[in-house]
Amino acid sequence: MGILAEADVYEKLREKMNLFPVRVPWTKEVMEMLKVVYTREEAEFLTHFPAPLQDPETMDQIVEKTGKPREKVQEIVDRLTSRGLLLRFKGRDGTVYYNMIPMVPGFDLYYFASGRDSDEKRKAAKLFDKYYQNGFGIEMGASNYSWARVMPVEKTITLDKEISSDLTIFPYEKMSEFIKTSRKIAVINCSCRIIRRTCDHPLETCLIFGSVAEFMVENGFGRYLSVEEALELLEEMEKAGLVHNTMNVQSNPGFVCSCCTCACIILRGLSELHNPRAFAKSNFLPVRDAEICTKCKKCVNICPMEANVYHASHDNGPERILFLEERCIGCGLCAYHCPNDAIKLVKIKDQVPEKTPREAFMRV
Ligand code: SF4
Ligand code: SF4
Repeated sequence: MGILAEADVYEKLREKMNLFPVRVPWTKEVMEMLKVVYTREEAEFLTHFPAPLQDPETMDQIVEKTGKPREKVQEIVDRLTSRGLLLRFKGRDGTVYYNMIPMVPGFDLYYFASGRDSDEKRKAAKLFDKYYQNGFGIEMGASNYSWARVMPVEKTITLDKEISSDLTIFPYEKMSEFIKTSRKIAVINCSCRIIRRTCDHPLETCLIFGSVAEFMVENGFGRYLSVEEALELLEEMEKAGLVHNTMNVQSNPGFVCSCCTCACIILRGLSELHNPRAFAKSNFLPVRDAEICTKCKKCVNICPMEANVYHASHDNGPERILFLEERCIGCGLCAYHCPNDAIKLVKIKDQVPEKTPREAFMRV
């Protein structure tokens, strides 16, 4: 590999990251962030990969492609994997592969959730957040096919014979099915809350699966959970008023986050950037029984999207809870937190996700 000028090295790294369907547009913040996070040697090394998550390479292939001595490659690879900047995983036959990671979902999750806090990470976080606000947030939801999807609180979902007469609840709409069919489950800290530092919601909230779970645990960035522990954690998150988000797929979802509008780069796409394509809403909507409702306002206070609104009594008229359907994302938190079981989350449509992450990203 030839010797590139410094600016060219980082621009080439951005261009490579930009080949992923969730693209990485040029701004001065992203260029500054890349320089904060990657040494010039690391940036140049990564650019030998064809594109993020494409054509994983063995150590032998990397040595051949880069022309660097094996010891040097091993040193760079170890440094990058230990900082969450390069993915390492085992194939079915035990062969170890390495792969470049995309900006999102990838760098955001692994780098910020990895290791200890540091000046470097704080500086990178500020730049990432500025990047998000200055264009990247909209870019994340630029496609007609949203790669992320809200998963409703499973306990609250139901069919209604009038509203959902031709509909069925599918396994991919049930969180427990995702969890039970996952090969490995690990929990890591929420990178969005590490980046933003604006709220005191729980930090150890993000579930990851399969080879990514193994990578994060092997590098000390997370811990394994059993199926039962993962389901318990999700219920804790529901109690804390957090929204489950996952990949917009039918199987192998990669991650399940428990999100807040204070920090989450997925939810903020709608709540802050007002992008209707930021993520896919669930196929469910809350239906409130006004006869049972006591106007306690719990559903108003818990709703992350301000879709439930309290309307005080006027001229001796009744108090009301108004529902703004266009704001609702179908998360089910209002139904879960209603003390009187006055809300049920009813299936209203069948928006069917792609089968696998690969197919989903081909649509993005
Ligand atoms: S939480 Fe339940 S009872 Fe309270 S206002 Fe909302 S629907 Fe009514
Ligand atoms: S009203 Fe709010 S809390 Fe209830 S499902 Fe819609 S977004 Fe979630």
